[in-house]
Amino acid sequence: MDKYNYLVVGSGLYGAVFAQQAKAAGKKVLVIDKRHNIAGNVYTEKVEGINVHKYGAHIFHTNTKEIWDYVNQYAKFNRFTNSPVANYKGELYSLPFNMYTFNKMWGVVTPEEAAAKIEEQRKEIIDAPQNLEEQAISLVGRDIYEKLIKGYTEKQWGRECCELPAFIIKRLPVRLTFDNNYFNALYQGIPVGGYTKMVKNMLEGIEVRTGIDYLENKAELDKLAEKIVYTGAIDVYFGYKLGTLEYRSVKFENEILDKPNFQGNAAVNYTDRETPWTRIIEHKWFEFGKDENGNDLPKTVISREYSSEWKPGDEPYYPVNDEKNSTLYAEYKKLAESENNIIFGGRLGEYKYYDMDAVIASALEMSKKEFN
Ligand code: UDP
Repeated sequence: MDKYNYLVVGSGLYGAVFAQQAKAAGKKVLVIDKRHNIAGNVYTEKVEGINVHKYGAHIFHTNTKEIWDYVNQYAKFNRFTNSPVANYKGELYSLPFNMYTFNKMWGVVTPEEAAAKIEEQRKEIIDAPQNLEEQAISLVGRDIYEKLIKGYTEKQWGRECCELPAFIIKRLPVRLTFDNNYFNALYQGIPVGGYTKMVKNMLEGIEVRTGIDYLENKAELDKLAEKIVYTGAIDVYFGYKLGTLEYRSVKFENEILDKPNFQGNAAVNYTDRETPWTRIIEHKWFEFGKDENGNDLPKTVISREYSSEWKPGDEPYYPVNDEKNSTLYAEYKKLAESENNIIFGGRLGEYKYYDMDAVIASALEMSKKEFN
């Protein structure tokens, strides 16, 4: 007889939320992870008293009250608001694109002047935008595209802007107000004490085994449960039999600096093409430079972020949702649907550029289907 109702492969957000819901529905769950720690890519680790976002900056934001209430059961969120700064060859600009950005770029002072400038520059795009370059120019004009979008995007994706889908840039707001809040979200913040603690709370009372590779021990592990929830890469699950899906990977160069303040902000994006890193994260500013007792921290930890094409052995981070990969994923999805007793979920399982709130929503929805 199966010992568990569900074996959840991967303890990132999708896996942790699904496992939590399964347990709440009275199911027996085992969560495994090939890493030696839980929390997938939201994992945070304490260094010099600072919660370091080990797999890249994660800023929680959502417009959905249900999701906000859900995460607040497992963590207390601070009032962090993401306001990255762009560094273009030493010139600093506010992000996302707003009145501070337009003032610095063009010297315009009023919203009317900014709107007129954008209007004049977007005229070069006549038809509906077909790719990221056209979409960007039609949103904010060529000057901003050249200085704040082109270099950053091409470094991040390793592809020309005219070969990338338009939707990527639609993630960024454009505002004619003095508002540096990067996200258009009603709710935003960072879990106090780090994401690992939040995921640990979600997994409370659930059996978790780390350092176990599912695919290497599949036959044996499958015997343990009635159903599998797989949050790894879908093409890897199928042994790449239809071909490899492309991912972008990220490498981090972490440094502990013996000074209290390196860049004065959590995120600085390097938007020129020549600087090899895409951004530098200074982790302490996610929690206002203080430890949990409200004391200033004497040192700082920074991470330079380098984007690269994924190759076997690297961590996959971003699915490349262009036409070629989307078509291939659709084929894998058909294969997945023909499998019995397995659910594919999350950024890698669904090959989707999910934000954290969307991945949680997806896991909650799947849970509803499963347990109702
Ligand atoms: N982007 C940009 N310049 C910036 C920041 C973002 O052009 O300074 C564009 C770029 O195309 C990028 C997209 O916005 O791929 C999404 O960026 P974001 O930082 O939101 O991605 P994340 O890595 O946080 O998911």
